[in-house]
Amino acid sequence: MITVRNYVGGRFVPAHSGQHMDDLCPADGTVIAQIPRSGARDVDEAAAAANEALKGPWANSTVEDRAQLLESIASAIEARLDEFAALESRDQGKPVSLARSVDIPRAIANFRFFAGAIRHDHTDFHPMAGALNYTLRRPVGVMGLITPWNLPLYLLTWKVAPALAMGNTIVAKPSELTPLTANALAEVFDQIGAPKGIFNLVHGLGAEAGDAIVSHPEIKGISFTGGTSTGALVAASAAPKFKKLSLELGGKNPTLIFADCDFDAAVEGAARAGFANQGEICLCGSRILVERSIHDRFLTALTQRVAAMKVGDPSAQDTQVGALVSADHRDKVESYIELGKQEGGTIECGGKRPELAEKLQDGYYLEPTVISGLTPSCRTATEEIFGPVVTVHPFDDEREAMAMANGVRYGLAASLWTTNLSRAHRLAEELESGMVWVNTWLLRDLRVPFGGMKDSGVGREGGRYSLEFFSESRNICIKL
Ligand code: NDP
Repeated sequence: MITVRNYVGGRFVPAHSGQHMDDLCPADGTVIAQIPRSGARDVDEAAAAANEALKGPWANSTVEDRAQLLESIASAIEARLDEFAALESRDQGKPVSLARSVDIPRAIANFRFFAGAIRHDHTDFHPMAGALNYTLRRPVGVMGLITPWNLPLYLLTWKVAPALAMGNTIVAKPSELTPLTANALAEVFDQIGAPKGIFNLVHGLGAEAGDAIVSHPEIKGISFTGGTSTGALVAASAAPKFKKLSLELGGKNPTLIFADCDFDAAVEGAARAGFANQGEICLCGSRILVERSIHDRFLTALTQRVAAMKVGDPSAQDTQVGALVSADHRDKVESYIELGKQEGGTIECGGKRPELAEKLQDGYYLEPTVISGLTPSCRTATEEIFGPVVTVHPFDDEREAMAMANGVRYGLAASLWTTNLSRAHRLAEELESGMVWVNTWLLRDLRVPFGGMKDSGVGREGGRYSLEFFSESRNICIKL
C-alpha cells in the first residue's frame, strides 16, 4: 500500500482536509494506494510556493541551467524505468509491455526533447525603415497543469517539460484515478535536488483541487487535457481571468480505408488504432469507414484480428488488452455497447466481459468489440466512448467518406489508408482534424503541432507551439 502525499515547496505534505481517497488497481480491484483529498487551501499553498520560486534563483536560471535540469529528470526516470512502468500499469490497467515501451520512454523523451528545443530556440527580428524590432520571451508565471488518466505520466511530462523549459513554475494535478507516476515524478524532483517550489503536485478531485487550480488568481495559465465537457467548465472559469489556456479534449476519430489500400497493413493499422491502450487514447480510431467494394472482406479480417487479441492481466508480458481504468468507466463503455445493439448494430466480436483467472475476477476487463451495421450518424458512432469499441461503416465514394468523417463535433485525429497519393493529399486537406496520418497511425515527431479542431480543443502543443504557449512574447521596437 502506497501512501501518497502532495508535493509543495519541495516537501511531501498531507492535505489540509486530512481526508484520503482509495486508489484502486484496475487489474484486480484492490486498493493499492491512498491519496490526499486536497482542496482550495492546499492549492493556495502550492501556488504560493510556485510564486515564491518564481522570484528566487529560478528567475535567473539560464537556458543551459534549465536544459540540464530537464536532462537530469530524464536520466533519473530512466534509471527507474521498470519501476515506473510497473506503477503505470498497476495504476492504469494498461499492459506493462506498453508502459515499458511507450509511456515511460516517451516521458523520458519529453524532457530530453524540450532540453534540446530550448537550446536551439531562437526569437524573431523584424527590421523596418528607421527602426528595428526584436522579440523577447518571458515565462507566463505559475502554470496550472491538469491531466487525465489514460496516459498519466506521458501527458503530464508533455506539459511539465516545456513549462519548466521556458522558466515557469508549476502547480499540477493528475487524475485521481492514476496518481502514482506523478507522485514518483515528484520523488525524482526531490531526489535530484531541483529548486524547491518549481514543481508542486496536488492530488484530489477535479471538482475540488482541479477547480481550485483553474480559478486561482495567482495561477496565470492553464494547460488542460481531458474530456470536452470538463474542458468547457475549465474554459468558463479561466476565461474571465484572462488566463492563457490550452485545451486538449476528446475525439471520435475516423479511420478511412480505401479499396486501393495495402489491405493487410490497413487491417493491422485499424486494429492498432482502435484498441491500443484498451482504446483509451484520445487519438484512437473508433470509427472505421471502409469503401464498400472491400467492406465485407475488411470487416471479416478485422474481426478475426481483434478476436485474437489477448485480453488479461496487465502485468503479463504477452497481454495486448489490459483492464479499463475503473469500474465506472467500464460501465460507461458497456452502456455504449448496449446502445449500439439498440441502435441496430451487430456485435461482430467481443461485447462482453472476458472469462479470466480467479485472481482477476474483480478487475475491469472487457473484450475488444467490433460493431457493424450502424448508421454513421447514430449516437454509438458519433459520441466518444473511449474504450475498446469500434464501429465499422461502408461508404461508396470520397464525398460520402468525407461527409461521414467530418460529420461529428470532434476534430482531433484521422488516419487514411490509400495508395493513391493524390487522394491522400486531397482528403488530408479536407479532413476537419488537427492531425491526419496517411498509411500509419500514432507516428509522432515531437516538433509537430499536436491538438484538435472543433470540440477537440483549443491551441496546439508540441515543439515551438508548446514553447510559445508557455511564454509571453514581447516586442521591443528601437528607433534608429
Ligand atoms: P476528465 O475531463 O474527466 O478529467 C481530466 C482532468 O481534469 C482530471 O485530472 C480531472 O480530475 C480534472 N477535472 C475534472 N473536473 C474538473 C474541473 N471542474 N476543473 C478542473 N479540473 C477538473 O477526463 P478523463 O480523465 O476522464 O480523461 C479522458 C478524456 O480525456 C477523454 O475525453 C479523452 O479524449 C481526453 N483526452 C484528450 C487528449 C488530447 O490530447 N486531446 C489526450 C488524452 C485524453 P479527476 O479525474 O481527478 O476528477
